[in-house]
Amino acid sequence: MLERFIENHQFNYIREQVETIRDSRKKSLPSSVLQAVIDLANAKIAFLFPEATSAQLAMLDVSKLQTDEAYDGFIDELRPHVRSFPQVSEQQVKKMFPKQKKLRLPDAAELNVNRMSYMSWNDLRSNRKYILCEKNHQLIGIELKASSNAKKNICAFCNQLAEVSYCVTITKAKQAKNPDYYKAIGTYICTDSASCNENMTNLDALMTFVETALKE
Ligand SMILES: [Zn+2]
Repeated sequence: MLERFIENHQFNYIREQVETIRDSRKKSLPSSVLQAVIDLANAKIAFLFPEATSAQLAMLDVSKLQTDEAYDGFIDELRPHVRSFPQVSEQQVKKMFPKQKKLRLPDAAELNVNRMSYMSWNDLRSNRKYILCEKNHQLIGIELKASSNAKKNICAFCNQLAEVSYCVTITKAKQAKNPDYYKAIGTYICTDSASCNENMTNLDALMTFVETALKE
């Protein structure tokens, strides 16, 4: 049976390491330096998978690869092992956002669930953006107000220079002395969540943002 043991962001991270090796090979470095680059990349990848079986570690081993074809083949072989984003039902989403009576899920055909650390879609009529992600195998979600004018900036989630919108959400945190106080937090997030998901190499910024928004 095909084991899907790689998370989307881990797959992106591995690909980034492979690109580092590929670039280093082109630089005609002394062989000991090149070997150090390869060993470091291999160690960084293995570090992501502390519970990997020996067969899985063999699959993740980049040290034997020599050619461009071998690098491409390596990445292609890992791709089917990336875990899919869980199926999300209309009912689950309605429960998460009870105030949004007319909320529609994105068209499943437009989502690449095999390349997703978070699911996001925009409601253009209301300039709202929705984000779903998983925490301890549970789906959590937040609703954001997105600025309508996109611009180039660094996305907080994937850390790439991209077309982003400034997105603001109201946290649930309340001040004891002032029950009417609502705190807003905002950040730049890629307008195109598919490319954001292709570039995320860790979940830190995404999880911090969503968890801060949901913290009571
Ligand atoms: Zn992004």
